[in-house]
Amino acid sequence: MEDLQGKVAVVTGGASGIGSGICRVIAREGLSVVVADLDLERAGRLAGELSGQGAKAVPAQVDVSEYASVEALAERALGEFGAVDLVCNNAGVYIGGPMDDLTPDDWRWVMSVNLDGVFYGCRVFSRILLEQGRGGHIVNTASVGGFLSHGEGAAYAVSKYGVVALSESLREQLKPHGIGVSALAPGPVRTALSDSDERRPEALADAGNKSAVLWEFIKHGIEPVEVGELVLRGVRDNAAYIFTDPSFRKPFEERFVRILNDFDRLD
Ligand code: NAD
Repeated sequence: MEDLQGKVAVVTGGASGIGSGICRVIAREGLSVVVADLDLERAGRLAGELSGQGAKAVPAQVDVSEYASVEALAERALGEFGAVDLVCNNAGVYIGGPMDDLTPDDWRWVMSVNLDGVFYGCRVFSRILLEQGRGGHIVNTASVGGFLSHGEGAAYAVSKYGVVALSESLREQLKPHGIGVSALAPGPVRTALSDSDERRPEALADAGNKSAVLWEFIKHGIEPVEVGELVLRGVRDNAAYIFTDPSFRKPFEERFVRILNDFDRLD
C-alpha cells in the first residue's frame, strides 16, 4: 500500500508502546487512526493528543481476546470513518519463566491475547478489506521471539511463532486481492510490556509478576516511534517481515543452519 494519505487505520494495543509509536507515525502521514486498546483512558489521551496536532484520531475500547469485542471495534471504525485500509493487530502481553512455573491460566492468557487476538483481528478485518475491494494491509505484531525460542518464556514464543505462521498463510491468501500482510518482528523496544501482568483479567489472575523479567531485555531497547517508522516503510514496501534490530540476523542464521544440519543427518 503505497499511497496512505486519507486512508484509515485501526491499531490494537494502540494506547502504549509500539502501538502508540505506530499511531503517531501514521497519523503524521495523514491516515485517520482508531487507537484501540483495553485501556480506554490511555487510548483517549493519545487520540486527543493526535487530534490536537491536526490528525483524525478516535479512541476505542477493545479486548482482542474476545471475538465479539473485535467485531464491535470494526463496526466502530466503519461507523466513524466509513472504511478501513490498514489494520495493526498489535496488542500483546508477556510472561517469562520456566515450564514448571507456567500454569494453565498463564498459558491461556498469553494465547488468548497474543494469538487468538491476532486471529480474530485477521478474520474480522480481512473480510472487510475483501468486501471493500480496495486493497489494504494487515500488520501482525510477532517478535524476534517468533523465530527464536529459549529455555524460558515458552508460552510467549509459541504465541509469536503462531503469529508468524498465521501472517505467512494470510499473506498468500490475500495476495491476489491486492492486500498485503506483514509480520512485525521487533527486537527490544522500551515499552510497558514488562508490566503486562497489571492488565491480566481476574478470571486468569494468578500471574505472580511473571512479566517483570522482560525489563532487563527491553530497558535499553529502541523507542516505539522508531518501530512506527519501520512499520510505515514495511507497509509501503509490502514487506513480508518487518524487523527492527539487525543484531538478530546472526542468531536467525545460526538457527536456520542448525535446522538444515539435521537434514544432513539423512544423507
Ligand atoms: P505495551 O504493554 O507497552 O503495549 C501493549 C498494549 O496492549 C497496552 O496498551 C495494553 O493495554 C494493550 N493490551 C493488552 N491486552 C489487551 C487486550 N486483551 N486487548 C486489547 N489491548 C490489550 O507493550 P509493547 O511492547 O508495545 O507491545 C506491543 C506488541 O509488541 C506486543 O504484541 C508485544 O508482544 C510485541 N513486542 C514487543 C517487544 C518489546 O521489546 N517491547 C518486542 C517484540 C514484540
